[in-house]
Amino acid sequence: MQGSFRLFRIAGVDIDIHWSWLLVFILLTWTLATGLFGEEFSGWTQAERWVAASATSIVFFGSILAHELSHSIVANRLGIPVRRITLFVFGGVSHLESESRTPREEFLIAIAGPATSFVIAGLLGGLWVVLSPVREPAAFAAGYLAVANGVIGIFNLIPGFPLDGGRVLRAFLWSITNGLLRATRLASWVGTIVAYGLMVLGIAVMILTGEILSGVWFIFIGWFLRNAAETSYQQVLMRHLLSAVPVRSLLDRSYEWVAPNMTLQTLLDEHILPRSARYFPVTGGSGLGGVITPKDVRRFPKTAWASTAVYQAMTPAERLAVISPEVSLDEALQLMSKHSTQQLPVMEGGTLVGFVTRQDIMRTVQLRVELGVAEKRETPV
Ligand SMILES: [Zn+2]
Repeated sequence: MQGSFRLFRIAGVDIDIHWSWLLVFILLTWTLATGLFGEEFSGWTQAERWVAASATSIVFFGSILAHELSHSIVANRLGIPVRRITLFVFGGVSHLESESRTPREEFLIAIAGPATSFVIAGLLGGLWVVLSPVREPAAFAAGYLAVANGVIGIFNLIPGFPLDGGRVLRAFLWSITNGLLRATRLASWVGTIVAYGLMVLGIAVMILTGEILSGVWFIFIGWFLRNAAETSYQQVLMRHLLSAVPVRSLLDRSYEWVAPNMTLQTLLDEHILPRSARYFPVTGGSGLGGVITPKDVRRFPKTAWASTAVYQAMTPAERLAVISPEVSLDEALQLMSKHSTQQLPVMEGGTLVGFVTRQDIMRTVQLRVELGVAEKRETPV
């Protein structure tokens, strides 16, 4: 996600914070310090209120993180790698590297989050009961956080995809229809209805209670959910579509071999610019010696282009991510993301047979979606 930075790493998962989440953190702390804590403990100094409010916000942050981590831990256990969690204005996202393979996996990953929130709510509720006769402020914070976690658990169980409840619904539909795509379409459709429902609720809240901020908040969440439902469905559609198409059918064979001792300047003047090509295989001892791209050239200062040879700048064959023509375009895209590259050399029996590019893959998706032939290939899983 653009605009996020890594905070720390826990259980093998990077925890990233998006700037929008900081806004929520500050807003929550401010609301607690000036509002709730101020009203409840009028004898407190400003400093005491702010300390208590910050501590409460940090525990709140911890509970959202625990919710998200539980999704990731279950996914990792099931063999679906999660390397990153991003916390942002509406909560958190676990970046699963692939989709669940069965309805059961989908259900387990989805339900782990709300279950964790309810367990935390229960524990804090218990703490509230124990503490309320003795230490008022801590009890107050525990009670407040117990309710907050309960609300998070309930909200996430709303059956609109891609909320957790929507994923549970998708798992259920998937198990009865035997088609992930169809199940996703239905669950996203419910998600869209829920999203519009939240927007209408937001408007109603504004009109009926005059609570502008709460109303706007509901509208924002609804708007976000609507987009998420749409993009999640598009993603599943795309992956579904690409998983049925082999790399072989989209090979680019129009590349030009270049010699390893050619200078970067010659490469630029005689090959890159005239052909506006983005990758060149470099000849090596026994076939492919490496691949050079404009990005590799840019790593050297302009003044060095005339004196640097292609082999010094290229990615050598042994460090290249390569792919077989028989694997699916979906796998090709995943490999490209993993290696942050726009194209992959396609190798068959140790020989270069072509390249597959992200651009070509996107074009084929676009074309199939435009022609309306994207959804017809569903096969039972
Ligand atoms: Zn969740």
